[in-house]
Amino acid sequence: MADRSPVPVQPELARNAVSLPCADTPLAAAVPGIMTCVHCGFCLQACPTYLALGDENDSPRGRILLARALVEGTLPLDDPDVRTHLDRCLGCRGCETACPSGVPYGHILEAARATLNEIEPPPRLARLVLAVFARPALLALALAGARVVRLTGIARLLAHLPGRAGFAFAMLAASAPYAANRRYAPRAGTARGTVAVLAGCVMRGLFAHVNRATERVLATNGYRVVSAPGQRCCGALHAHAGDLAGARALARRNIAAFEQSGAEFVAVNASGCGLMIKEYGHLLADDPAWSQRAAAIAARARDVSELLADAGPAPGAPIPGRVAYDAPCHLLHGQRLARQPLAVLTAVPSLEVTPLPNADQCCGSAGIYSLVQPQLAQDVLAPKLAEIADAGAPLVATGNPGCIMHIGAGMLRARIPARTVHPVELLDASYAAAHGATPPDR
Ligand code: SF4
Ligand code: SF4
Repeated sequence: MADRSPVPVQPELARNAVSLPCADTPLAAAVPGIMTCVHCGFCLQACPTYLALGDENDSPRGRILLARALVEGTLPLDDPDVRTHLDRCLGCRGCETACPSGVPYGHILEAARATLNEIEPPPRLARLVLAVFARPALLALALAGARVVRLTGIARLLAHLPGRAGFAFAMLAASAPYAANRRYAPRAGTARGTVAVLAGCVMRGLFAHVNRATERVLATNGYRVVSAPGQRCCGALHAHAGDLAGARALARRNIAAFEQSGAEFVAVNASGCGLMIKEYGHLLADDPAWSQRAAAIAARARDVSELLADAGPAPGAPIPGRVAYDAPCHLLHGQRLARQPLAVLTAVPSLEVTPLPNADQCCGSAGIYSLVQPQLAQDVLAPKLAEIADAGAPLVATGNPGCIMHIGAGMLRARIPARTVHPVELLDASYAAAHGATPPDR
Protein backbone atom coordinates (compact mmCIF):
# COMPACT_ATOMS: atom_id res chain seq x y z
CA MET A 1 0.00 0.00 0.00
CA ALA A 2 1.39 3.43 -0.91
CA ASP A 3 1.98 5.99 1.84
CA ARG A 4 -0.87 8.41 2.32
CA SER A 5 -0.40 12.12 2.91
CA PRO A 6 -2.28 13.77 5.76
CA VAL A 7 -5.83 14.72 4.74
CA PRO A 8 -7.72 17.87 5.78
CA VAL A 9 -9.73 17.60 8.98
CA GLN A 10 -13.50 17.55 8.56
CA PRO A 11 -15.11 18.37 11.92
CA GLU A 12 -18.56 17.63 10.50
CA LEU A 13 -17.53 13.98 10.23
CA ALA A 14 -17.72 13.53 13.96
CA ARG A 15 -21.16 15.18 14.11
CA ASN A 16 -22.51 13.02 11.29
CA ALA A 17 -21.12 9.68 12.48
CA VAL A 18 -24.62 8.24 12.50
CA SER A 19 -24.86 8.49 8.69
CA LEU A 20 -21.39 7.06 7.97
CA PRO A 21 -20.72 3.64 6.44
CA CYS A 22 -19.39 2.54 9.85
CA ALA A 23 -22.51 3.74 11.72
CA ASP A 24 -23.42 0.29 13.05
CA THR A 25 -19.88 -0.79 13.91
CA PRO A 26 -17.70 -0.31 17.02
CA LEU A 27 -15.68 2.25 15.00
CA ALA A 28 -18.57 4.73 15.13
CA ALA A 29 -17.87 5.33 18.82
CA ALA A 30 -14.22 6.10 17.99
CA VAL A 31 -14.99 8.85 15.44
CA PRO A 32 -14.59 11.77 17.89
CA GLY A 33 -11.18 10.40 18.89
CA ILE A 34 -10.14 9.92 15.27
CA MET A 35 -11.06 13.54 14.55
CA THR A 36 -8.82 14.73 17.40
CA CYS A 37 -5.71 13.83 15.36
CA VAL A 38 -4.22 16.89 13.65
CA HIS A 39 -1.69 14.80 11.69
CA CYS A 40 1.31 16.60 13.23
CA GLY A 41 3.45 13.44 13.28
CA PHE A 42 4.92 14.04 16.75
CA CYS A 43 4.03 10.42 17.55
CA LEU A 44 6.05 8.84 14.75
CA GLN A 45 9.39 8.60 16.53
CA ALA A 46 7.66 7.11 19.58
CA CYS A 47 6.26 4.23 17.55
CA PRO A 48 8.30 0.99 17.61
CA THR A 49 6.67 -0.44 14.48
CA TYR A 50 7.31 2.75 12.51
CA LEU A 51 10.93 2.74 13.68
CA ALA A 52 11.29 -0.93 12.72
CA LEU A 53 9.50 -0.81 9.35
CA GLY A 54 9.75 2.84 8.25
CA ASP A 55 6.28 2.76 6.68
CA GLU A 56 3.82 5.57 7.44
CA ASN A 57 1.01 2.99 7.40
CA ASP A 58 2.70 1.30 10.36
CA SER A 59 2.78 4.54 12.34
CA PRO A 60 0.10 5.92 14.68
CA ARG A 61 -0.76 8.73 12.25
CA GLY A 62 -0.99 6.28 9.36
CA ARG A 63 -3.19 3.86 11.28
CA ILE A 64 -5.50 6.66 12.38
CA LEU A 65 -5.84 7.69 8.73
CA LEU A 66 -6.63 4.09 7.81
CA ALA A 67 -9.30 3.98 10.51
CA ARG A 68 -10.66 7.24 9.20
CA ALA A 69 -10.76 5.87 5.66
CA LEU A 70 -12.84 2.95 6.97
CA VAL A 71 -15.13 5.42 8.71
CA GLU A 72 -15.58 7.51 5.55
CA GLY A 73 -15.95 4.47 3.32
CA THR A 74 -13.00 5.41 1.09
CA LEU A 75 -11.47 2.03 2.00
CA PRO A 76 -13.66 -1.07 2.37
CA LEU A 77 -13.83 -2.87 5.70
CA ASP A 78 -12.40 -6.00 4.06
CA ASP A 79 -9.28 -4.26 2.70
CA PRO A 80 -6.51 -6.78 3.56
CA ASP A 81 -3.78 -4.12 3.75
CA VAL A 82 -5.68 -2.19 6.41
CA ARG A 83 -5.89 -5.35 8.47
CA THR A 84 -2.17 -6.00 8.03
CA HIS A 85 -1.17 -2.55 9.29
CA LEU A 86 -3.58 -2.60 12.22
CA ASP A 87 -2.49 -6.14 13.16
CA ARG A 88 1.13 -4.96 13.29
CA CYS A 89 0.33 -2.40 16.00
CA LEU A 90 1.61 -3.42 19.44
CA GLY A 91 -1.02 -1.42 21.27
CA CYS A 92 1.84 -0.06 23.40
CA ARG A 93 0.36 3.46 23.52
CA GLY A 94 3.74 5.13 23.25
CA CYS A 95 2.00 7.35 20.71
CA GLU A 96 -0.50 8.56 23.34
CA THR A 97 2.31 9.87 25.54
CA ALA A 98 3.88 11.66 22.57
CA CYS A 99 0.63 13.13 21.25
CA PRO A 100 -0.02 16.81 22.06
CA SER A 101 -3.67 16.53 21.01
CA GLY A 102 -4.68 13.78 23.43
CA VAL A 103 -5.73 11.32 20.74
CA PRO A 104 -7.15 8.20 22.48
CA TYR A 105 -5.24 5.89 20.18
CA GLY A 106 -5.75 2.72 22.24
CA HIS A 107 -9.53 3.05 22.09
CA ILE A 108 -9.41 3.75 18.33
CA LEU A 109 -7.30 0.62 17.79
CA GLU A 110 -9.61 -1.59 19.84
CA ALA A 111 -12.68 -0.25 18.01
CA ALA A 112 -11.03 -0.71 14.60
CA ARG A 113 -9.99 -4.27 15.40
CA ALA A 114 -13.46 -5.10 16.75
CA THR A 115 -14.97 -3.73 13.51
CA LEU A 116 -12.63 -5.73 11.27
CA ASN A 117 -13.30 -8.87 13.34
CA GLU A 118 -16.97 -8.58 12.36
CA ILE A 119 -15.89 -8.94 8.71
CA GLU A 120 -13.21 -11.57 9.19
CA PRO A 121 -12.28 -13.30 12.46
CA PRO A 122 -8.72 -13.00 13.82
CA PRO A 123 -6.17 -15.73 12.96
CA ARG A 124 -6.92 -19.23 14.31
CA LEU A 125 -3.98 -19.11 16.76
CA ALA A 126 -5.26 -15.86 18.30
CA ARG A 127 -8.78 -17.28 18.61
CA LEU A 128 -7.46 -20.42 20.25
CA VAL A 129 -5.44 -18.48 22.83
CA LEU A 130 -8.35 -16.16 23.64
CA ALA A 131 -10.73 -19.11 24.00
CA VAL A 132 -8.37 -20.79 26.48
CA PHE A 133 -7.95 -17.57 28.50
CA ALA A 134 -11.73 -17.25 28.80
CA ARG A 135 -12.01 -20.79 30.28
CA PRO A 136 -10.40 -20.95 33.76
CA ALA A 137 -10.28 -24.76 34.00
CA LEU A 138 -8.64 -25.15 30.61
CA LEU A 139 -6.19 -22.32 31.30
CA ALA A 140 -5.29 -23.75 34.72
CA LEU A 141 -4.56 -27.10 33.09
CA ALA A 142 -2.38 -25.53 30.38
CA LEU A 143 -0.43 -23.45 32.90
CA ALA A 144 -0.01 -26.40 35.26
CA GLY A 145 1.64 -28.26 32.39
CA ALA A 146 3.83 -25.24 31.72
CA ARG A 147 4.90 -25.13 35.37
CA VAL A 148 5.98 -28.78 35.19
CA VAL A 149 8.08 -28.03 32.10
CA ARG A 150 9.63 -25.05 33.94
CA LEU A 151 10.24 -26.92 37.21
CA THR A 152 11.95 -29.88 35.54
CA GLY A 153 14.41 -27.59 33.79
CA ILE A 154 13.18 -28.71 30.37
CA ALA A 155 12.22 -25.14 29.46
CA ARG A 156 15.74 -23.84 30.05
CA LEU A 157 17.23 -26.86 28.30
CA LEU A 158 15.18 -26.25 25.15
CA ALA A 159 15.39 -22.45 25.23
CA HIS A 160 17.97 -22.39 22.45
CA LEU A 161 15.96 -24.42 19.95
CA PRO A 162 15.55 -22.41 16.76
CA GLY A 163 12.35 -20.55 15.94
CA ARG A 164 9.12 -19.99 17.82
CA ALA A 165 9.29 -23.19 19.87
CA GLY A 166 12.68 -22.30 21.32
CA PHE A 167 11.52 -18.78 22.16
CA ALA A 168 8.40 -20.15 23.87
CA PHE A 169 10.56 -22.42 26.08
CA ALA A 170 12.85 -19.48 26.82
CA MET A 171 9.83 -17.37 27.87
CA LEU A 172 8.76 -20.11 30.24
CA ALA A 173 12.26 -20.39 31.70
CA ALA A 174 12.30 -16.60 32.20
CA SER A 175 9.17 -16.79 34.36
CA ALA A 176 10.98 -18.67 37.16
CA PRO A 177 10.98 -17.06 40.63
CA TYR A 178 13.82 -14.70 41.48
CA ALA A 179 14.15 -15.79 45.10
CA ALA A 180 12.04 -18.80 46.03
CA ASN A 181 11.25 -20.00 49.56
CA ARG A 182 11.95 -16.73 51.28
CA ARG A 183 8.62 -16.48 53.03
CA TYR A 184 8.19 -14.39 56.15
CA ALA A 185 5.20 -13.31 58.20
CA PRO A 186 4.60 -9.60 57.68
CA ARG A 187 2.83 -7.66 60.40
CA ALA A 188 -0.88 -7.37 59.61
CA GLY A 189 -1.50 -3.90 58.24
CA THR A 190 -4.74 -1.96 58.57
CA ALA A 191 -3.77 1.70 58.57
CA ARG A 192 -3.80 2.23 54.81
CA GLY A 193 -7.01 0.38 54.00
CA THR A 194 -8.13 -2.92 52.57
CA VAL A 195 -6.77 -4.31 49.32
CA ALA A 196 -7.89 -7.17 47.08
CA VAL A 197 -5.15 -8.38 44.75
CA LEU A 198 -6.05 -9.30 41.18
CA ALA A 199 -4.89 -12.90 40.88
CA GLY A 200 -4.77 -12.68 37.07
CA CYS A 201 -4.46 -15.64 34.75
CA VAL A 202 -0.79 -15.79 33.70
CA MET A 203 0.07 -14.27 37.08
CA ARG A 204 -1.88 -16.96 38.93
CA GLY A 205 -0.54 -19.75 36.72
CA LEU A 206 3.14 -18.82 36.29
CA PHE A 207 3.79 -15.95 38.70
CA ALA A 208 2.03 -17.10 41.88
CA HIS A 209 5.32 -16.24 43.64
CA VAL A 210 4.86 -12.58 42.59
CA ASN A 211 1.25 -12.62 43.78
CA ARG A 212 2.34 -13.90 47.20
CA ALA A 213 5.19 -11.35 47.29
CA THR A 214 2.65 -8.63 46.42
CA GLU A 215 0.47 -9.61 49.37
CA ARG A 216 3.45 -9.64 51.73
CA VAL A 217 4.87 -6.26 50.70
CA LEU A 218 1.43 -4.65 50.85
CA ALA A 219 0.88 -6.02 54.34
CA THR A 220 4.34 -4.86 55.39
CA ASN A 221 3.40 -1.37 54.22
CA GLY A 222 0.20 -1.17 56.22
CA TYR A 223 -2.51 -2.58 53.93
CA ARG A 224 -4.95 -5.30 54.95
CA VAL A 225 -5.14 -7.84 52.15
CA VAL A 226 -8.57 -9.46 51.65
CA SER A 227 -9.57 -12.19 49.21
CA ALA A 228 -11.82 -11.70 46.18
CA PRO A 229 -13.04 -15.14 45.05
CA GLY A 230 -14.68 -15.54 41.65
CA GLN A 231 -12.15 -13.46 39.71
CA ARG A 232 -11.37 -14.23 36.08
CA CYS A 233 -8.89 -13.05 33.45
CA CYS A 234 -9.11 -9.24 33.31
CA GLY A 235 -10.06 -9.27 29.61
CA ALA A 236 -7.10 -7.21 28.35
CA LEU A 237 -6.00 -9.79 25.78
CA HIS A 238 -9.54 -9.95 24.42
CA ALA A 239 -10.00 -6.17 24.27
CA HIS A 240 -6.67 -5.61 22.52
CA ALA A 241 -7.51 -8.28 19.96
CA GLY A 242 -10.86 -6.61 19.25
CA ASP A 243 -12.99 -9.18 21.11
CA LEU A 244 -14.88 -6.52 23.07
CA ALA A 245 -17.80 -8.83 23.89
CA GLY A 246 -15.38 -11.34 25.44
CA ALA A 247 -13.63 -8.58 27.40
CA ARG A 248 -16.94 -7.23 28.70
CA ALA A 249 -18.08 -10.65 29.88
CA LEU A 250 -14.86 -11.11 31.87
CA ALA A 251 -15.02 -7.56 33.23
CA ARG A 252 -18.52 -8.14 34.64
CA ARG A 253 -17.29 -11.22 36.52
CA ASN A 254 -14.38 -9.28 38.02
CA ILE A 255 -16.49 -6.27 38.96
CA ALA A 256 -18.88 -8.53 40.87
CA ALA A 257 -15.96 -10.29 42.60
CA PHE A 258 -14.27 -7.08 43.72
CA GLU A 259 -17.56 -5.52 44.86
CA GLN A 260 -18.15 -8.63 46.95
CA SER A 261 -14.69 -8.35 48.54
CA GLY A 262 -15.53 -4.92 49.95
CA ALA A 263 -11.90 -3.85 49.38
CA GLU A 264 -11.10 -0.16 49.10
CA PHE A 265 -8.41 -0.85 46.51
CA VAL A 266 -7.87 -3.40 43.77
CA ALA A 267 -4.11 -3.98 43.60
CA VAL A 268 -2.69 -5.15 40.27
CA ASN A 269 0.88 -6.32 39.69
CA ALA A 270 0.56 -6.82 35.91
CA SER A 271 0.50 -3.47 34.16
CA GLY A 272 -1.58 -4.62 31.17
CA CYS A 273 -4.25 -5.97 33.52
CA GLY A 274 -4.11 -2.82 35.64
CA LEU A 275 -4.77 -0.61 32.64
CA MET A 276 -7.64 -2.85 31.59
CA ILE A 277 -9.34 -2.61 34.99
CA LYS A 278 -8.79 1.16 35.06
CA GLU A 279 -10.62 1.24 31.70
CA TYR A 280 -13.59 -0.91 32.75
CA GLY A 281 -15.69 2.28 32.88
CA HIS A 282 -14.94 2.94 29.20
CA LEU A 283 -15.41 -0.71 28.24
CA LEU A 284 -18.89 -0.87 29.79
CA ALA A 285 -19.94 2.75 29.23
CA ASP A 286 -22.85 1.71 27.00
CA ASP A 287 -24.17 -0.94 29.38
CA PRO A 288 -26.73 0.78 31.64
CA ALA A 289 -26.74 -2.08 34.16
CA TRP A 290 -22.96 -2.09 34.59
CA SER A 291 -21.52 1.30 33.63
CA GLN A 292 -21.59 2.85 37.11
CA ARG A 293 -20.39 -0.33 38.79
CA ALA A 294 -17.55 -0.57 36.23
CA ALA A 295 -16.52 3.05 36.80
CA ALA A 296 -16.54 2.52 40.58
CA ILE A 297 -14.23 -0.52 40.39
CA ALA A 298 -11.99 1.25 37.87
CA ALA A 299 -11.59 4.12 40.34
CA ARG A 300 -10.40 1.67 43.00
CA ALA A 301 -7.77 0.01 40.79
CA ARG A 302 -4.12 0.72 41.58
CA ASP A 303 -0.87 -0.67 40.31
CA VAL A 304 0.89 -2.25 43.28
CA SER A 305 3.69 0.32 42.88
CA GLU A 306 1.18 3.16 43.42
CA LEU A 307 0.06 1.71 46.73
CA LEU A 308 3.65 1.06 47.82
CA ALA A 309 4.86 4.51 46.78
CA ASP A 310 1.99 6.10 48.73
CA ALA A 311 3.21 4.21 51.78
CA GLY A 312 6.86 5.20 51.44
CA PRO A 313 7.56 2.26 50.95
CA ALA A 314 9.27 0.94 54.09
CA PRO A 315 12.92 -0.01 53.52
CA GLY A 316 14.07 -3.58 54.11
CA ALA A 317 17.51 -5.14 54.50
CA PRO A 318 20.29 -4.40 51.99
CA ILE A 319 20.50 -6.36 48.75
CA PRO A 320 23.79 -5.26 47.17
CA GLY A 321 23.76 -5.27 43.38
CA ARG A 322 22.61 -3.44 40.27
CA VAL A 323 19.27 -3.44 38.53
CA ALA A 324 18.13 -1.77 35.31
CA TYR A 325 14.47 -0.74 35.11
CA ASP A 326 12.45 -1.17 31.93
CA ALA A 327 9.06 0.54 31.99
CA PRO A 328 6.12 -1.63 30.87
CA CYS A 329 4.20 0.34 28.22
CA HIS A 330 0.85 -0.07 29.90
CA LEU A 331 2.31 1.25 33.14
CA LEU A 332 4.20 4.22 31.67
CA HIS A 333 2.06 5.18 28.67
CA GLY A 334 -1.26 3.62 29.66
CA GLN A 335 -1.35 4.46 33.37
CA ARG A 336 1.22 7.29 33.29
CA LEU A 337 3.16 5.84 36.23
CA ALA A 338 6.89 6.57 35.98
CA ARG A 339 8.00 7.45 39.50
CA GLN A 340 6.23 4.76 41.51
CA PRO A 341 8.06 1.61 40.27
CA LEU A 342 11.37 3.39 40.84
CA ALA A 343 10.25 4.19 44.40
CA VAL A 344 9.81 0.45 44.95
CA LEU A 345 13.31 -0.31 43.68
CA THR A 346 15.03 2.51 45.55
CA ALA A 347 13.43 1.33 48.80
CA VAL A 348 15.85 -1.63 48.68
CA PRO A 349 19.03 -0.52 50.47
CA SER A 350 22.34 -1.04 48.58
CA LEU A 351 20.51 -1.82 45.32
CA GLU A 352 21.82 0.49 42.60
CA VAL A 353 19.25 1.38 39.93
CA THR A 354 21.06 1.69 36.59
CA PRO A 355 19.45 3.82 33.88
CA LEU A 356 18.40 1.92 30.75
CA PRO A 357 18.34 4.08 27.60
CA ASN A 358 14.97 4.08 25.82
CA ALA A 359 13.33 2.28 28.73
CA ASP A 360 10.09 3.91 27.53
CA GLN A 361 10.13 1.94 24.25
CA CYS A 362 8.06 -1.23 23.93
CA CYS A 363 9.92 -4.57 24.22
CA GLY A 364 7.65 -6.25 21.66
CA SER A 365 5.75 -8.51 24.06
CA ALA A 366 2.28 -6.91 23.91
CA GLY A 367 0.00 -9.74 25.03
CA ILE A 368 -0.26 -12.36 22.29
CA TYR A 369 1.68 -10.19 19.83
CA SER A 370 4.83 -12.31 20.02
CA LEU A 371 2.70 -15.31 19.02
CA VAL A 372 0.90 -13.72 16.08
CA GLN A 373 3.68 -11.35 14.88
CA PRO A 374 6.81 -13.30 15.86
CA GLN A 375 9.30 -11.64 13.52
CA LEU A 376 8.25 -8.06 14.26
CA ALA A 377 8.22 -8.85 17.98
CA GLN A 378 11.87 -9.91 17.64
CA ASP A 379 12.74 -6.83 15.58
CA VAL A 380 11.27 -4.57 18.26
CA LEU A 381 13.07 -6.50 21.02
CA ALA A 382 16.52 -6.38 19.37
CA PRO A 383 17.46 -2.76 20.27
CA LYS A 384 16.29 -3.29 23.83
CA LEU A 385 18.55 -6.32 24.22
CA ALA A 386 21.50 -4.31 22.92
CA GLU A 387 20.80 -1.58 25.49
CA ILE A 388 20.48 -4.13 28.29
CA ALA A 389 23.78 -5.73 27.29
CA ASP A 390 25.44 -2.28 27.29
CA ALA A 391 23.98 -1.39 30.71
CA GLY A 392 25.62 -4.52 32.15
CA ALA A 393 23.25 -4.90 35.12
CA PRO A 394 22.61 -8.51 36.19
CA LEU A 395 18.92 -7.76 36.87
CA VAL A 396 16.28 -6.10 34.70
CA ALA A 397 13.15 -5.14 36.64
CA THR A 398 9.82 -4.69 34.90
CA GLY A 399 6.27 -4.91 36.24
CA ASN A 400 4.42 -6.97 33.66
CA PRO A 401 4.50 -10.75 33.12
CA GLY A 402 4.64 -10.49 29.32
CA CYS A 403 7.65 -8.15 29.49
CA ILE A 404 9.37 -10.33 32.11
CA MET A 405 9.04 -13.35 29.83
CA HIS A 406 9.72 -11.64 26.50
CA ILE A 407 12.79 -9.67 27.60
CA GLY A 408 13.95 -12.57 29.76
CA ALA A 409 13.70 -14.99 26.83
CA GLY A 410 15.57 -12.60 24.57
CA MET A 411 18.40 -12.27 27.10
CA LEU A 412 18.55 -16.02 27.64
CA ARG A 413 18.80 -16.78 23.92
CA ALA A 414 21.30 -13.96 23.34
CA ARG A 415 23.34 -15.29 26.29
CA ILE A 416 23.25 -11.92 28.06
CA PRO A 417 24.25 -12.64 31.70
CA ALA A 418 21.16 -11.11 33.30
CA ARG A 419 17.62 -12.07 34.27
CA THR A 420 14.30 -10.30 34.57
CA VAL A 421 12.53 -9.75 37.86
CA HIS A 422 9.34 -8.05 39.06
CA PRO A 423 10.14 -4.96 41.22
CA VAL A 424 7.96 -6.39 43.98
CA GLU A 425 10.13 -9.53 44.10
CA LEU A 426 13.16 -7.39 44.95
CA LEU A 427 11.36 -5.48 47.71
CA ASP A 428 10.01 -8.78 49.05
CA ALA A 429 13.49 -10.29 49.07
CA SER A 430 14.70 -7.23 50.97
CA TYR A 431 11.95 -7.67 53.58
CA ALA A 432 12.69 -11.41 53.76
CA ALA A 433 16.36 -10.62 54.44
CA ALA A 434 15.25 -8.28 57.22
CA HIS A 435 13.42 -11.29 58.70
CA GLY A 436 16.59 -13.37 58.59
CA ALA A 437 16.56 -14.93 55.11
CA THR A 438 19.85 -14.99 53.22
CA PRO A 439 19.79 -12.31 50.48
CA PRO A 440 19.78 -13.67 46.90
CA ASP A 441 23.12 -13.93 45.12
CA ARG A 442 22.46 -10.89 42.96
S1 SF4 B 1 0.90 13.12 17.63
FE1 SF4 B 1 -1.34 12.90 17.94
S2 SF4 B 1 -2.25 14.50 16.66
FE2 SF4 B 1 -0.11 14.27 15.94
S3 SF4 B 1 -0.25 12.71 14.28
FE3 SF4 B 1 0.18 11.58 16.16
S4 SF4 B 1 -1.85 10.98 16.92
FE4 SF4 B 1 -2.18 12.63 15.43
S1 SF4 C 1 0.30 1.74 20.04
FE1 SF4 C 1 2.56 1.56 19.86
S2 SF4 C 1 2.89 0.34 17.97
FE2 SF4 C 1 0.75 1.05 17.92
S3 SF4 C 1 0.78 2.97 16.77
FE3 SF4 C 1 0.99 3.56 18.95
S4 SF4 C 1 3.22 3.66 19.31
FE4 SF4 C 1 2.91 2.51 17.38
